[in-house]
Amino acid sequence: MIVIRVGELAKHLGVHRNTVRNWVNSGKLPARSVAGKRYLISESDFAKLCEEFGIDRSSMKLKFVPGKPVMSREMTFPPEDLKGVGKRSQRLLPTAQWGDVCLTCGSCAGACPISGVDGLDPLKAVRMAILGREEELIASQWPWKCTLCGKCEEACPMNVEIVALLRTVRGLRDRKKVPGALQKGVLLCLEKGNNLGIPKEDFLSLLQEMGREMREEGYAGFEVPVDAKGANLLVTVNSKEAFAEPESMKFWWKIFYAAGESWTVPSEYWEGLNWGLYTGDDEAMKTMVGRLVENMHRLECKTLLLPQCGHAYYATRYGLNRWFKEDLKHFRVLSVVDLLVQYLEQERIHVEPSLPSDLTTYHDPCHYGRKSLKAFGQGYFEEPRRIVRQCAPNFVDMVPDREGSYCCGAGGGAWATPFKEERVFHGRLKARQIQTSGAKWVVTACQNCRDQILRSLKKEYDLDIGVKYLWELVADSLIFKNSKPSGSSP
Ligand code: SF4
Ligand code: SF4
Repeated sequence: MIVIRVGELAKHLGVHRNTVRNWVNSGKLPARSVAGKRYLISESDFAKLCEEFGIDRSSMKLKFVPGKPVMSREMTFPPEDLKGVGKRSQRLLPTAQWGDVCLTCGSCAGACPISGVDGLDPLKAVRMAILGREEELIASQWPWKCTLCGKCEEACPMNVEIVALLRTVRGLRDRKKVPGALQKGVLLCLEKGNNLGIPKEDFLSLLQEMGREMREEGYAGFEVPVDAKGANLLVTVNSKEAFAEPESMKFWWKIFYAAGESWTVPSEYWEGLNWGLYTGDDEAMKTMVGRLVENMHRLECKTLLLPQCGHAYYATRYGLNRWFKEDLKHFRVLSVVDLLVQYLEQERIHVEPSLPSDLTTYHDPCHYGRKSLKAFGQGYFEEPRRIVRQCAPNFVDMVPDREGSYCCGAGGGAWATPFKEERVFHGRLKARQIQTSGAKWVVTACQNCRDQILRSLKKEYDLDIGVKYLWELVADSLIFKNSKPSGSSP
């Protein structure tokens, strides 16, 4: 591998440093940024670049380092094994809507941001499944590098259910071979009630401590209502927040306080993640959704606030519709976006722009947008934008957006897999969209997307931005008209 400073490369090519960065961001130049504003490029990609620009490499002093090529878009197809061809997969057949109707048009492969990685793409995956090369597909890491973002399905003229196929392939992998921490998270959640195995007493003392901090910050009488029977709203907590970012729980608490909401957090089974979706494990997914249903009945709450993180919102809504239809007769279900819209429309909360002039954009999480529209007939596109505009009126959309939005690159549980390079590579398109929009702030409604943009893309692609959760922006913009609300207990 060749390591070269961005300025030096730009000088050799006779272009501006930003042009080089744009090429890298767009995938035109397969390279990875490393410490010291340098790029790591494979020798063959570098040779091609020099050839394209008519540059004599022999005159350059190049530094070589060991390492494997990053995400070259070169197709390196594995050798064909034709033994199983023609024996159509029985295990994949139940996922019906794929296969027979595929036109092999390649639209899915053209739309997929990771086409070519490991020599695979969605079209090839569909063909492998049809042609009985199921074992090869299950053994491949590619279905785990796919972020289940649904861009391929959006492009497919035949509505082939490519994401369902790839998730089924994930589910068929021996559980011991599930990459990264995904299966560990599922097992911990099943056994201990949350993905990180946080003990009940630790969780409860954290809530108590954070409640005290809220009172010290001026939220008189505030405390986190745990197991409050008869509350209107049952609220989950993402274990990542409880473990590493407890401050971020306060955004919602401030909003509930301002709205005078009657709410509660269950002392058990409060997890707001559902990694059964990622591992293709329907039984685990059902158990986790079932625990929220149990809590709703036990605590006699009227409304379940669907978990905040995009995948968990989707998994819970999907799971409720599929396995708990009868229970839905006993309580209402609201997404976090629905709830914020209601609060603002009913004037239960009031906001004034906390970002009055900074250019701000909204990232559409796949699960709240494109995938929600397809699965539930409701994509959250306009609602979050309405909310953002009230708090940050200097608003700009990215292109493409809404159904066509690019995934942040961290869907499908990517943070918990060892495939960091692929996650960053996938995110190059989102980084480029953000950069092109000129926005100073990116707002999103998914915890996973926020982390990928803030903690990864910002650094990897030199983005000069801040990133906020949608509810963080609202909490930062809250104003208290007339009198302070009476408190937070039901
Ligand atoms: S879901 Fe996204 S990452 Fe996966 S194959 Fe389709 S477009 Fe590619
Ligand atoms: S876009 Fe649809 S029809 Fe076209 S190759 Fe892909 S799966 Fe087949």
